[in-house]
Amino acid sequence: MRQVLSGIGAARGNALGRARVRQPHALDIDETRIEASQIEAELERFHAAVAAVRAEMHALRERLHGVLAHELGEFLDLHALLLDDPELLSGIDDLIRVGRYSADYALRLQRDRLAAVFEGMDDAYLRSRIDDIDQVIGRLHAALNRHTAELQGASGEILVADTVAPAELAQLQAQGVVGVVTASGSPLSHTAILARSLQLPLVVGAAQALQKVNDGDVLVIDGSSGLVVLEPNAEDLRAHHRRVAEARREQRQRNRLRREPARTRDGVDIKLWANAETVADVSTAHALGAAGVGLYRTEFLFLGSRTLPDEEAQFRAYREVVLAMTGRMVTIRTLDLGADKADGTGLALRDEPNPALGLRGVRLSLVRQDLLRTQLRAIARASGYGPVRVLVPMVSSGEEMRAVRRILAEVLDAVRQEGHETAAELPVGAMIEVPAAALALPGFIDTCDFLSVGTNDLVQYLLAADRTHEALGELYTPLHPAVLKVLRGVVRVGQTHGKPVTVCGEIAADPALVPLLLALGLTELSLHPATLLDVRHAIRGCDLGQLRAQASALLRARSRAGIERWLATRAAPAT
Ligand code: PEP
Ligand code: MG
Repeated sequence: MRQVLSGIGAARGNALGRARVRQPHALDIDETRIEASQIEAELERFHAAVAAVRAEMHALRERLHGVLAHELGEFLDLHALLLDDPELLSGIDDLIRVGRYSADYALRLQRDRLAAVFEGMDDAYLRSRIDDIDQVIGRLHAALNRHTAELQGASGEILVADTVAPAELAQLQAQGVVGVVTASGSPLSHTAILARSLQLPLVVGAAQALQKVNDGDVLVIDGSSGLVVLEPNAEDLRAHHRRVAEARREQRQRNRLRREPARTRDGVDIKLWANAETVADVSTAHALGAAGVGLYRTEFLFLGSRTLPDEEAQFRAYREVVLAMTGRMVTIRTLDLGADKADGTGLALRDEPNPALGLRGVRLSLVRQDLLRTQLRAIARASGYGPVRVLVPMVSSGEEMRAVRRILAEVLDAVRQEGHETAAELPVGAMIEVPAAALALPGFIDTCDFLSVGTNDLVQYLLAADRTHEALGELYTPLHPAVLKVLRGVVRVGQTHGKPVTVCGEIAADPALVPLLLALGLTELSLHPATLLDVRHAIRGCDLGQLRAQASALLRARSRAGIERWLATRAAPAT
């Protein structure tokens, strides 16, 4: 029966497909016993499921090419090893044969046994490997419950799950998944950022999804409005097709803007950089005329791999980006692991009670200087192939910047002495995302060659509102007077000291907020290439002189509603 579930649109795009439901960790399977006469048939059913999953994973491995194969291959190999682990399989055989449990229930018992072993481990990294077991068990469970004809990969399916890890997304897309719905999650999470980068429609926070949707149900999802229609009727299908056609039309229109400058109506050029997470992002950024890469989040290289990438692997990845940008500046951010980017890295991060306030970003890099040196060596070597700048995340003081600069200087010396070509200069900038850094900036601006404001985190720390917490709703908003004041302050310090300031948080990717950012004095934005043309279009509709003249009215707004009113009266006219 038709039902509409609502969530939050996190990566735009529309998808129509069958649901594949993945229940969270504990497999909720009731105890079911079988007769002695059914044992052989049950064993056969289980072995057929194992063979199907093996074939599915093999097919996926074959389909991965280039960087994806490099990033996700190890992850798949590990799952293939687990699937062949006699410990896992013979345990299930015994439970079916001796315990006379159904294959599904045997799977659950075996999962719970292994989970108990893993939970008892001291090492946090090893403990977290239960996630891999869960994924393999989840695949087996799905295979046991599918008809043979449906065992062919996931092409055209929409995954419905509680959460999805960032590293899993590319794998899902390579499998043919056309959209994802999660019961929890937030549009500011790194999973959401990566989904936008992969242009994979994503709806998060659809709380009812796991209860209402069953495997095989047909779904229509809209990654902008966050609506999920279960068993759509003819009108829903027509609306879906209309939205898809409309999106294509808009895309064609935007494509005409490819060669147009991001110039305001009064003739001021705004520098549009791209946030790039994958090599595909980099090529799109280049094709759309981005000024350069304003934010390359290196942690995605780590998240996709089960072991730490060594200097050579990092160097090759960075060089690929630098070469693809053909002489345009590439801003490589040093590792920002921690908080919601802690899974699957091969790095044993400690369990922290409050990870967003814990050992993340530059704090982790300065504690693990071995990692930082390796990364800076790789960046320094990549700079021999084109201009590169280094961006330091989660800075809260000048000491941190000075420490990174000192290590970079040592690394540059060493790399040059070894005979590598490097750029003559590597500018070093600070991410301004910790309120203390924004407020203390005049005291350490001399340690920064440029600034990049990370509004995603800045908003979360200023407003004490977790960026991934779905229940906080509108409490997490960049449209807060405090956020605007801090932004204005950072821009002023940059201007006074002649240091370029970019905004690279998601606020920069929203065309509706362009007038606000320009009014605050920003002239550089860095955003995902998916919305680059929309933002360029919005810039072309703005009059910078007028907006600057109206900045004081904006800064006088006392509430979100006041800021929205200011924005509403300045909606950019179409060009
Ligand atoms: C930010 O915090 O705004 C930012 C760009 O960094 P990330 O989203 O990777 O934390
Ligand atoms: Mg950040």
